Amino acid sequence: MKSLRKPIFATTYISLSFFLLCGCSLQQDDADEAPGPDLIVVNADVHTVDSSIPKAEAFAIAGGKFVAVGSTTEIRQLAGNNTEIIDVAGVTVIPGLIDGHTHLLMGSVLAVGVDLSEIEEKRDWLGIIRDKAQGTPEGSWILGGAWDHNLSDGVLPTKEMLDSVAPDHPVLLRDIDGHSAWANSLAIEMAGVSADSPVPPGGEILIDPETGELTGIFLESAGGLFGDAPGMAEATDPVAGIKAAVDLANSLGITTVHDMSNNFDEFLRVFEAGDLTLRVWQGARPPRVIDRSPSEIYAEMAAERERVRLQVAENSQTEVMGPLFDIGYTKLMIDGVLSTYTALMKAPYSDNPDAVAEPFATRDQLNAMIAAAHEYDFPVAVHAIGDAGVSWVLDGFAASPGKAGMQSDRIEHIEVVTPDDVQRFEALGVVASMQPHHATCCVGNYVIDHIGRDRLPNAYAWRSMLDTGVPLVLGSDWPTSPLNPLIQMADTIHRETRIDGVVRPWDEGNTLSFAEALYGYTQAGANMTSWSDEIGSISVGKWADFVILDEKLPDNVDRALENRQVTATYLAGQRVYPD
Ligand SMILES: [Zn+2]
Repeated sequence: MKSLRKPIFATTYISLSFFLLCGCSLQQDDADEAPGPDLIVVNADVHTVDSSIPKAEAFAIAGGKFVAVGSTTEIRQLAGNNTEIIDVAGVTVIPGLIDGHTHLLMGSVLAVGVDLSEIEEKRDWLGIIRDKAQGTPEGSWILGGAWDHNLSDGVLPTKEMLDSVAPDHPVLLRDIDGHSAWANSLAIEMAGVSADSPVPPGGEILIDPETGELTGIFLESAGGLFGDAPGMAEATDPVAGIKAAVDLANSLGITTVHDMSNNFDEFLRVFEAGDLTLRVWQGARPPRVIDRSPSEIYAEMAAERERVRLQVAENSQTEVMGPLFDIGYTKLMIDGVLSTYTALMKAPYSDNPDAVAEPFATRDQLNAMIAAAHEYDFPVAVHAIGDAGVSWVLDGFAASPGKAGMQSDRIEHIEVVTPDDVQRFEALGVVASMQPHHATCCVGNYVIDHIGRDRLPNAYAWRSMLDTGVPLVLGSDWPTSPLNPLIQMADTIHRETRIDGVVRPWDEGNTLSFAEALYGYTQAGANMTSWSDEIGSISVGKWADFVILDEKLPDNVDRALENRQVTATYLAGQRVYPD
């Protein structure tokens, strides 16, 4: 964290108050008494996401907050002796981005190690691994992965490939689905694994039938054979992992996340160290085994929340940086995913009619958990992907006596939803939390086959939600899809997927405009938190979270958005990327 600055101005101004400020400062003879704002940004194409001034050229910041938004001429007049001036030469500036669904700790291994997601060619994987090895002390683990051999030639990689680029580092890389681990010879040696090692149930060590040697691929639970290897504990330190994930998020323009990690103490350690340069709105998960009444469980979770809130409140960082950490809601799950036929559907899967998805809880259990969460003032977020799963959750919300006071209840993913249930989102006041890349990655890949073309209009129905008046929050679900919000927003604009070998848009009626996508990635996410008046737009009185892009976006933003880069990210007026 940068050094704390003393606020110069009172922190709340009504819009256009800079005229008053300006008048005052011009009347000062002694420049020292009129230091002006801490920072002004001028010559910008500012998308404020504030409907009272949607576009602006400049803004001023004092005490970590926006104190004026207007034209370059107006804002320049505010500058005092001590004001830092950033002239961005016409590029686009947007509010700090808010990712509505992340798993930072789960993804941190990609931030610390190598990230091969979405990369098709194996030689490109190996180039990234070689580069990582060159920057890593010999003998230290190289982890991460997210490789997908189906994007490449469909053939599993081998330990020899890793040996060729990183012979002196133990390397262990998970595939994109987490079902396979790929290790090099040094990793296998350090873990003491051989063809004769006992394999945990459900796992398999792949052996080359010709040589009898390990191939380097370990399926399912066999990947766990490396857990106790020397150096592994240090390599997977959660605090270092969270810090790396926070830095990655900042580099992509993200200043706030709704995180599903449920690791309060690890996040608090990052916060206490002054390294949490990201506002984290975290979801609390009930224990996996429900052995007490839901009320007892949520009473305990409420006490835990209180403990965390007290610890955060005792730290003065939030006075200068604004809110940084809170347990804001609870996260539940009702079904699985479409790819493995585990999402709960109202009618059978089109290409596998015998598949019967098992719900993760009975209706009674789900309803009891929702009601108990509300009783203890937890808004509820429920993972529901199939149209029946979504219906169950809506039923659970409708049945909860405490629903009326919970405007931030939400359903996560909603990959298929019937039109009547879209109406129920609106009627019940439930937020739709959706991840655009889950659609574009997979519609042509398996979704059309699994749900059939007749149900396709019910899939990833972003615009149907908005047109029905349902708040739509966008996010990534990283590490299952790219953390980069510019990719996710571009996906909503082009809605393209590979169908029959050709990349093309599908169901274009459900695309979003850039303004709608940007709202979904900023203010809509803020509205789900208790910080809705403090973040989410470039507005006078809010904490100065903003992002400078590398170019001015065109009037009609198209998929080229995904190629834009973030030049700088600011949190409460302090630069957190590059740091
Ligand atoms: Zn998730």
